[in-house]
Amino acid sequence: MTRTCPHCKATILASALVCPGCRGHLRFDKTAGPPATTATWQIEGTFAAERPGEAMEYCILVSVRNERNEEIARHVVNVGSLEGAERRTFNLSIETSDNKK
Ligand SMILES: [Zn+2]
Repeated sequence: MTRTCPHCKATILASALVCPGCRGHLRFDKTAGPPATTATWQIEGTFAAERPGEAMEYCILVSVRNERNEEIARHVVNVGSLEGAERRTFNLSIETSDNKK
């Protein structure tokens, strides 16, 4: 049900036509319809330096837990520092699809 993207090596769903990570096209099957995935959940936010004239470091971490509250994935997505008018907008989206071959 999963495969490795030949472009960015991310683990993605085997049914994906476009890699959600690098947006690289994976299949050029003319009989295939539009991707069956739907973005079922999405969150977006923006943050900026808290005090003017003072740099602020940040770390964006995503973790996933299962029904037993066990952590099954944990990734530091990005770290950096912000100063002045600099900001970062983050977007987390969860896509689902029917479990078809
Ligand atoms: Zn990719």
